[in-house]
Amino acid sequence: MDDMDNFDPNRVYDAIVIGSGLGGSTLAYRLGQRGLRVLVLERGDYLRLPPRGPNEPVGIHIDSFSTRPFTVGGPTKFYGAAMYRMRESDFRATKHEAGESPAWPITYADLEPYYKEAEQLYRVHGASENDPTEPPRSSPYPYPPIPHEPLVSAVIDRLGKSGTSVSPVPLALDYGDGGKCILCSTCDSYYCRLDAKMDAEIAALRPAMATSKVELLTNADCLKILTSSDGSKVTGVLIERGGKQETIRAGIVALCAGVPHSARILLDSRTERHPHGLGNSTGCVGRYSAGHTTGMIFPLLNWAKKLPPTRTKSFSINGYYGGTSDWPYPLGVIQAAGQIPFWTADAVPKWKKRIAQFVAERSLYCFYMVEALPTRDTGYDFNGRTIVRETKPVENVGTFNKLRHLAIKTFRKAGYQVVSPGHRSLWHMTGTVRFGDDPNTSVLDANCKVHDIDNLYAVDSSVLPSAGVVNTGLTIAALALRVGDTIASAELSNSSFTTIQRPAIAVSC
Ligand SMILES: Cc1cc2nc3c(=O)[nH]c(=O)nc-3n(C[C@H](O)[C@H](O)[C@H](O)COP(=O)(O)OP(=O)(O)OC[C@H]3O[C@@H](n4cnc5c(N)ncnc54)[C@H](O)[C@@H]3O)c2cc1C
Repeated sequence: MDDMDNFDPNRVYDAIVIGSGLGGSTLAYRLGQRGLRVLVLERGDYLRLPPRGPNEPVGIHIDSFSTRPFTVGGPTKFYGAAMYRMRESDFRATKHEAGESPAWPITYADLEPYYKEAEQLYRVHGASENDPTEPPRSSPYPYPPIPHEPLVSAVIDRLGKSGTSVSPVPLALDYGDGGKCILCSTCDSYYCRLDAKMDAEIAALRPAMATSKVELLTNADCLKILTSSDGSKVTGVLIERGGKQETIRAGIVALCAGVPHSARILLDSRTERHPHGLGNSTGCVGRYSAGHTTGMIFPLLNWAKKLPPTRTKSFSINGYYGGTSDWPYPLGVIQAAGQIPFWTADAVPKWKKRIAQFVAERSLYCFYMVEALPTRDTGYDFNGRTIVRETKPVENVGTFNKLRHLAIKTFRKAGYQVVSPGHRSLWHMTGTVRFGDDPNTSVLDANCKVHDIDNLYAVDSSVLPSAGVVNTGLTIAALALRVGDTIASAELSNSSFTTIQRPAIAVSC
């Protein structure tokens, strides 16, 4: 892989992509495919690991990398690879117990062709059967669902017999003919040493770089986006690399640094023309964060002994999503997780660790999640690079409790004893650079271009106005393909991209 040790900052790029995570790598892939010359800037480095020793597990848990929060591929190097399409209603304004989930500026139908391509790119294995929430599709999943392990099949059988409909989790894995995945237990929250998980680096960045149109600069920390003197256009970026600052210029800049970094970079890029930060003339940058409130549930499979290492993340229960007869609001989904040693985390108090480990090792760890809502107040306040205040999304606590009780009832009905601590965590954060039709309440237009700047785009989790009810990853990837098409057609119709002057380089130490 190219570290670009001989990186030449004089090179002229059609586009600079900031961040090599899900949005950034997928966008770079599409731009390279469309013939644009692209530089991806990544603050971190590759995760290069010693070869796997005999009897060592395939995966290495995320906690081993806690000193390296930035990496090529971003958090997808550790993700559970659950790649869902959002449901049709997730794109519409929806009333919840604690407020409203906002309408998106595009519909499910607008994104459908890109979902299809993203599923192909990320090799998503799934099936629509038994999922009443599955949106309309122009074609079936590109790969059949991942088979359940016998231990998981037994649980699904009992759930089915007790009247609960169970569907496969769509999974982005290199599984099947010639594939690298061996369906091991160290996947969700683990780095895969077989490169078998279709993360952003493997699924999108590597093929992008193979086109020779896309280059990656690692350890390149984007400090600012630079604008023209009248403030109407971006001209490039200021980065720090190896203790030196450098300016790199391009016709288009796309921000894909994730929540909360994309918002912070916009704010840090303030100029006289944009005194509150880029895209922030209406004060929306950093605001309207949203996400998922999640809780854990443990159906006990065997009190007497630990379960063997098993690939457990393969089924979900989505039937409660639309609400129930006694709950008029959307509820959420219940999903099997991987065998994650969550009790080792610092956040788990010492006294709880042993009991948590005892229960988790004997049960099927599942989680349930409901939407947490954005308001103008939710989000982050920064002082330079530091977050000085976080106002969390508004949680639908009654809905969360309702779904928890339904989850407990569901597994009990199937004959399992259940442990469910009722603790709430926020996952899959979205918003802070959201797209929308109204510049008073959004940073980007429906094409993910900053409202008042000609050639600045963003596409990552921070763009999503709400988190919907399923994992957000595939939606980020689909949106990135769509934005790639928008940028490529803008590039074609705007000759200025081919007449960029050779850049002036500013270097300071
Ligand atoms: C353990 C775990 C399991 C998960 N499981 C799932 C799952 O099963 N399904 C799902 O849909 N989601 C899952 N997620 C969430 C998913 O990984 C994220 O939602 C997704 O990666 C967000 O994509 P993004 O494009 O917003 O940015 P990211 O993927 O976060 O990428 C941002 C990139 O920008 C880089 N960057 C940041 N600042 C700068 C800077 N100043 N200069 C240059 N580069 C910068 C970062 O290093 C990073 O590479 C999981 C996450 C974790 C941690």
